[in-house]
Amino acid sequence: MKSYRKELFFNIPSRRGIVNITEQVQEAIDESKVKEGLVLVNAMNITASVFINDDESGLHRDYEVWLEKLAPEKPYEQYNHNGYEDNADAHLKRTIMGRETVVAITNGKLDFGTWEQIFYFEFDGKRQKHVLIKVIGE
Ligand code: ZN
Repeated sequence: MKSYRKELFFNIPSRRGIVNITEQVQEAIDESKVKEGLVLVNAMNITASVFINDDESGLHRDYEVWLEKLAPEKPYEQYNHNGYEDNADAHLKRTIMGRETVVAITNGKLDFGTWEQIFYFEFDGKRQKHVLIKVIGE
């Protein structure tokens, strides 16, 4: 069995942002030479997510509005965690949107459902974060 590891680095200039990382994940699969297997993609910071959905800007704005209802950024003093930091909302948003995604690799390609794309979702940006890609298979 082959195994391949790669990290992607992000420094989003705003507090929150969504980045389509589908091409970078496919590049890692190409580098791995795996034709049949699985790829795990996970955020390596607890204030960011990796998720799969549609690359549609209206939907991405809807995520922002929905997450602000569930875990509003402000007022900061509403959260116990914010005695040390101001990013409690970012931890909660990360839990809602998830840590990782796993996609099948078939014939060397990401084996997606209709319209599926892989995204990095930053909830507490303006600093370096990273994502792990782990490819396993034959
Ligand atoms: Zn924190």
